[in-house]
Amino acid sequence: MRIVPVPCMQDNYAYLVIDEATKNAAAVDPSEHAPVLAAAAEEGVQLRELWLTHHHFDHVGGIEGIAEAVPDLVIRGSAHDHREKRIPKQTTAHEDGDVFTFEGHEVRVIDNPGHTLGAISFFAEGNLCSGDTLFIGGCGRVFEGTMQMMKDSLGKLRDLPRDASVWCGHEYTVKNLEYAAGVEPENSEVAAALAAAKSKRAKGEMTVPGTIGAERSTNPFFRYDVPTIAAGPDDVARFTALREGKDRF
Ligand code: ZN
Ligand code: FE
Repeated sequence: MRIVPVPCMQDNYAYLVIDEATKNAAAVDPSEHAPVLAAAAEEGVQLRELWLTHHHFDHVGGIEGIAEAVPDLVIRGSAHDHREKRIPKQTTAHEDGDVFTFEGHEVRVIDNPGHTLGAISFFAEGNLCSGDTLFIGGCGRVFEGTMQMMKDSLGKLRDLPRDASVWCGHEYTVKNLEYAAGVEPENSEVAAALAAAKSKRAKGEMTVPGTIGAERSTNPFFRYDVPTIAAGPDDVARFTALREGKDRF
């Protein structure tokens, strides 16, 4: 399995998940149809499935256009979004812990509500497609869920294997790590990650993928149980202080 990031819109990433044996592919969070179809053509792959992490327009906006070009797509999203009918043309509704196979590759669905309700990540052979729940150096805003939900969701993701790759929904890494550096000025790994991200962006390179292990050392939203990271008597209070601080940053 090979993952190919497809930059879309301002700062979104869609991804092609490619089975090299069959040259069949799934597209994750197609914000727009044109760049995703172009990337599939460039890679010489046939799109079979679309995997949606949540219903926001900058993640599902390309569904209709891809469905026009490609018949019989399997379109996967959460059961919640299916009930709410807010992912266009969704064919398949997933609950937390569902495992499906794509071209023989096992894919696990992780429910991670907070940014939205019915937000899911896809975990396949050491690759995490995390949408707007986990970003490199940060996390999504809490729009529909509660702070407790978002903390629990990130807690679940940080327990994945340290060497798992993180393919997130947006290129927000530099801004996220600038905030992280303010939160933990003594954390030399944050400073090094920020310098590395800035140098990549200066060269026009992407900062994806990250790794779960690096996020555990640098992402404040994985570090809510470090007692000194923010003011508050417990994990939820510290997480809330961190998230509200980022909202104002
Ligand atoms: Zn979103
Ligand atoms: Fe988004």
